[in-house]
Amino acid sequence: MTTPVATPSPRSVAPSGGIARIAAPRGARPHGLYDLTLHDLETRVVDLGFPVYRARQVWSWVYRQLVADYIAMTNIPAALREALSIAAPLSLLEPVRTLTADDGETIKTLYRTGDGQVLETVLMFYPDRATVCVSCQVGCAVGCAFCATGLMGLARNLSAGEMVAQVAGAAREAHQRGRTLTNIVMMGMGEPLHNYDATMAFIGIIHDPDGLDIGARRITISTSGIVPKIDALAMEPLQLNLAVSLHAPDDELRSSLVPINRRYPIAMLMASIDRYIEKTGRRVSFEYALMRGINDSEEIARDLAALLRGRLCHVNIIPLNPVDVLPYERPDAAGIERFASILREAAIATTVRYSRGLDIDAACGQLRAKEEATRAAS
Ligand code: SF4
Repeated sequence: MTTPVATPSPRSVAPSGGIARIAAPRGARPHGLYDLTLHDLETRVVDLGFPVYRARQVWSWVYRQLVADYIAMTNIPAALREALSIAAPLSLLEPVRTLTADDGETIKTLYRTGDGQVLETVLMFYPDRATVCVSCQVGCAVGCAFCATGLMGLARNLSAGEMVAQVAGAAREAHQRGRTLTNIVMMGMGEPLHNYDATMAFIGIIHDPDGLDIGARRITISTSGIVPKIDALAMEPLQLNLAVSLHAPDDELRSSLVPINRRYPIAMLMASIDRYIEKTGRRVSFEYALMRGINDSEEIARDLAALLRGRLCHVNIIPLNPVDVLPYERPDAAGIERFASILREAAIATTVRYSRGLDIDAACGQLRAKEEATRAAS
């Protein structure tokens, strides 16, 4: 679920360290160690004829030492390393390009998958946390009007392992800077609830206390509003954060911006969110990409306040990162503040999330689109 958030400018361009090669042959759907739970790995290790405790050692190398290659696992027998490199390869994603912005505090990595797909991951450092924005699909079927990823349509779902590999790469990058990766937001390319099973498998792996140990409360799933899956999410045992990309308070406007609204209109969406809040007791975030002349009027702000009043929620206003080929623009600072203050005056908890790296490829999916265009032209 793309939200128009931080994207780096190309102040530095360099391949990031870490994963060095793709193991799966072109055309094959990659499947590797990052797809496995610890229990799966134990089974795999025993099947290969090695004692079960070796699995925990490998797990520690991968998720605690954050190594990117079996060769680095010096206390693991060479025969097991070799067998695992075939049975459960570690290198699912190849970094194609890395762009940094905001004095190095934002890092966007473009990865290529084993079957030649291209995806994006953004790592953002803040004083108190380090957050990675993960892609869950290549492209997206939702087709939001203002989104570069939506323009592409859906190429395919990512596997759980391809999502874990993005997080492992970000954790490694953070570690190299003396920082710890703390937060995961599923706001990169794709709609997580359209890839529900892989998303939940991914969360299970990164949440494992023996592995990356990312707490559920530090994981945010962002959705365009897939109502049956919001209900399913409410039944999950983990206390995840839910962010709903609302972008408009009425059906006519929302359907023009977020086409899935025709299938799951606002009343249906709000009812599912109410069930979610009742079941989980968790506050829901509403993401609101603010676009000049589209959804930023005072009347719309008042309608939004009326829609959300009384709900356990928070609004994140995200002034739009414009996409070159789309006609949507960001409001000026006064317009943003006016919209936010109407919500606040109506007692709706509201923050404005200013994007980083505004100067280039500012919306998720743009860097990938440019890479694809470059490949097509070459
Ligand atoms: S088109 Fe897909 S990726 Fe883009 S904003 Fe909509 S749901 Fe998110």
